[in-house]
This record gives sequence, C-alpha cells and structure tokens, in this order.
Amino acid sequence: MMTPMNRRSALKALSLGALAASVNPRLSASPESREGTRFANSAIYRFRIGNHDAFAIQCGSLTIKPEWPSFATEPSADEFAAAVRETIPTGTLRMPFNVLLLDWNGTYVLIDSGEPGHAGAPPPVVALLGELGIAPDRIAHVVLTHAHFDHLGGLVDGAERPVFPKARHHAFKAEADFWTAPHPDVSKVRLDTTDMIRVARRVFARIAFEFPNPGAEIVPGITAFSSPGHTPGHMTLRLTSGPSTLYHISDLCHHARLLLEHASWSIASDVDPVLAVKTRKEIFRNLSETRERIFGFHMPFPGLGYLAKSATGFRWLPEDWIPDNA
Ligand SMILES: [Zn+2]
Repeated sequence: MMTPMNRRSALKALSLGALAASVNPRLSASPESREGTRFANSAIYRFRIGNHDAFAIQCGSLTIKPEWPSFATEPSADEFAAAVRETIPTGTLRMPFNVLLLDWNGTYVLIDSGEPGHAGAPPPVVALLGELGIAPDRIAHVVLTHAHFDHLGGLVDGAERPVFPKARHHAFKAEADFWTAPHPDVSKVRLDTTDMIRVARRVFARIAFEFPNPGAEIVPGITAFSSPGHTPGHMTLRLTSGPSTLYHISDLCHHARLLLEHASWSIASDVDPVLAVKTRKEIFRNLSETRERIFGFHMPFPGLGYLAKSATGFRWLPEDWIPDNA
C-alpha cells in the first residue's frame, strides 16, 4: 500500500520556492472558534454561463517568492528584479487554485480538483462542495486539465480511494501517457520532479480515465482543446450555453500581472518551455482580439476576466465582482 501523499513534498513539487500554502480557516476551525469567523470571506463565487449556474471554488493556494533564474530564465537578473518590483509590491505572489463547478442542466461537472487533503484528511474541495450542499457522489463528470498536484490532488483521498466515486473522469491521453511512462522527459523542468511524477501516477493508477479527442465535446457545450507545452496533454476548454461562452485557460498563465505582462517568459514547471510560450501567445492573441470571457485556474479569485494586448504581452481585465449576479 502506498503511503498517503506527503503534502509538503507535493507542494514542493510545484512551489518554485514556496513560502507557504494557505488553507481556508473555516475548514480547520473547531465549531466554537467558528463564531468569530462567520463573516470570513467566501471561497466560493457563483456566476452564470448563459442558462447555467457556475461556481468558482478556491481549493487552496500557494504564496511564492519568485527567484531568478529558476522562476523564469528568459530575462536577465536585472530585468527580472525590475519586473517583480513593478508588478508585485510585496515581493511575493499568490497563486489561487480556482476549481470550477458547473451545474450543466442538473448534471454536476467539476473541472480540476485543487490540492490534496492534509495528513490523510479529505481534500478541501470536499468541504467546499459541502458548503453548496453537494456530496462527492453527486459529481457526474470530472475534467482534468493536466496532472499537476494543484489540479488533481483532490481526486484521491488519504485512504487511496477516488473522491468522486460515481464520476466519469476525463483527461487527454497524451497527459496520462506522459506521466505514466517509465521515464517521462522532465529534463527541462526547473524543479524537483520526483513528487510531481509520483502524485500524478498515484491518481492515474487509482482512477480509470476516459480520453476525449482534442476538439471533441466532453458533454454537450463543453469542448476540450489541446494546448501543449506546460504539460504535453494540457487542456483548455470552451464552455458554451446559447450565445454565452467562457474559455477556461487553466495554466496557460500562472500570474495575472508578472506573467501576463511578460508573456515570453516560461515558468519553472513547464515541461516544454518553448512550446508553452508559443501556445500561450497563440491562444492569448486570439482571446485578446475576440475579448472572449475567460476563467483562469491561477488568475485572481474568482478567476473571471478578459485579455487585452499590452506593449510586452497582455493585460488582465478582471470581471467586476457582483455579490448577487443570478
Ligand atoms: Zn496549476
């Protein structure tokens, strides 16, 4: 039997020099101590895509102090320091893990799952779905955009069981094949990949995934596109309801200011840094021209916005937060 995933090492696999991961305090607070936190900020944001309800759910985050050259090799040390000063006043950046739940004609579709649970506990996504009154066995489809721990960590619990027992799980075959190969080529990743590979294999060993073809609909109105580079089988998605669409960019970008503005920079966790930059620029050029509405796994919560061109790359135009947007 495998030991439960070591969360610390899993975080290290993606951390790029992580300082800490933050946890929703409501998930770990005792009932007595919740009294004072009843006005805590919500980790769930409800919005609409055409006729459908959708929920952005922040299932973890990383706080990172970006360090040159591991974080980005393309700029010089001076250019990197100047860019960090310009875009990150504190010198640290925060990457939320924005999971997307869709109520698709009464069928629940979950896109990615956030980080794993702590010390064998259920992953945060379970408690957050519970706040919506949704038990894990109500999820009908899980779509995995790629196999990094912040996206698939919530799919298997501390007892090595699938968290969503009745769901059909979908990912690209290229993604599963890469991580489960005897020797995945991670020679260009600027991080320790031992845990990254172990965490991905753990999930693929315990869950039988279905492999949609790139360009195919997973369910009507949810189309999966191949967008390789960050990982070989990285997936982006277009969600369509009548005339309304939402383009899920997943990890085409990891920070709305530092990395959108510097769209030619790779990130330490890219499996193929050159291809990742090429794919990002192609898709973002198109999205900035069409001004299609976007959801980003690592964009500022709740992850909704639009793209515009800038002198060196792109700018994030966040959607206005509306408390009741039903
Ligand atoms: Zn990610």
